[in-house]
Amino acid sequence: MKHAIFPGSTIGVLGSGQLGRMLALAARPFSYHIHVFSPEANSPAGQVADREFVAAYDDLDAVREFAQSVNVVTYEFENVPLATAEACAAIVPLRPGTQVLRVAQNRLCEKNFFADNRLPTVPFASVHSLAELQASLADIGCPAVLKTAVSGYDGKGQIKINHPDEAVAAWQAVGEVDCILEGWVTFEREVSMVAARDVNGRIAHYNLIENSHHNHILDVSVAPANVPPQVLRQAEAMVQTVLTALDVVGALCVEFFLCSDGRLLLNEIAPRPHNSGHLTIEACVTSQFEQQMRTVCGLPVGDTSYLRPAAMANLLGDLWDVQRRDAEAQRKKDERNLRQSAKSADNISPDWTAVLNNPQLKLHLYGKKSAHPGRKMGHLTALADSVGEAEKIVRKARRRLETGD
Ligand code: AMP
Repeated sequence: MKHAIFPGSTIGVLGSGQLGRMLALAARPFSYHIHVFSPEANSPAGQVADREFVAAYDDLDAVREFAQSVNVVTYEFENVPLATAEACAAIVPLRPGTQVLRVAQNRLCEKNFFADNRLPTVPFASVHSLAELQASLADIGCPAVLKTAVSGYDGKGQIKINHPDEAVAAWQAVGEVDCILEGWVTFEREVSMVAARDVNGRIAHYNLIENSHHNHILDVSVAPANVPPQVLRQAEAMVQTVLTALDVVGALCVEFFLCSDGRLLLNEIAPRPHNSGHLTIEACVTSQFEQQMRTVCGLPVGDTSYLRPAAMANLLGDLWDVQRRDAEAQRKKDERNLRQSAKSADNISPDWTAVLNNPQLKLHLYGKKSAHPGRKMGHLTALADSVGEAEKIVRKARRRLETGD
């Protein structure tokens, strides 16, 4: 621990969303200070940080001022511009470094990295023109999925192609930019492994987490996933390869497709804590955010044991919309409600009573100022004697929020 960055020091975070917020909350008990940098004021992370730098990512003077105010810099999203990360790295340690950032922010680099390291993944081809798309479709076959090489997340920038005739429309829909074409995999389940590697190369992981998606967005996660031991061993080996080959110091998540024949295929990596790992806050001895704090500060990885099986359900902005629709219906019915609903129509949050009355549930809200469909606004976590039981609890609670019962 000779070069450790000890409590009392300041961690800088590029990005200021919910992941930065939960890192800041995990670092507080250790007395670390948190400075965040992003273009947004009063951001989810900024609300709980010691200092919020508000500037564009390409304002490198502001970036340098931010880096000079901290002892180490990390990031909470992988699309932070490389020049921004490099400007920080010239002043203080940047963890994880730019090597993994470069790979994770470009789907083509990512898949080429998997192939170079003999890590099994989906069939893929690089696409830079319509002609290349048509040739690759003939090669890979349909269905396939066309994804922009950069800036895609939560299903954004991707389009499924069911027939070669759809190539022109798909190419136009993605904006005729550099893309990757992937073969469509019929997987049995989606699983992820959140792990962290410390400065001494020690790795700790949170077992496999099972994820279900809705509209390409993570919906519910349960852990530990019920998978055969050989699947867990395969995942551990692949995660170790990723972390060591890219010399990652920090937290990282690997997402996999688990096929019915037991094959595990790498989908993508994210060099940061991950939505599927939110349940570690309550379920594990050391949360993924404390683990990020520990590793970026040069401390050893913490114990990742599960205290109990757990489940997490995301709360998307759609829930706020349902409330607004209800409020508007009510407004029509009740003249007296008109003034009140009109005043707060943009900011009506669900009725949390049922959630707060249930001692099994933990509610996390990210402090986002406006809700819109698909936007991650918060999550619910429950621990129980089995993952099935925990999943039932979070799903039931969320349904009650949806229906308002
Ligand atoms: P991604 O942003 O690439 O992780 O894609 C979001 C979601 O789309 C994944 O979690 C899968 O549910 C689905 N998906 C993406 N790529 C593929 C693929 N090649 N085959 C089947 N499903 C996919």
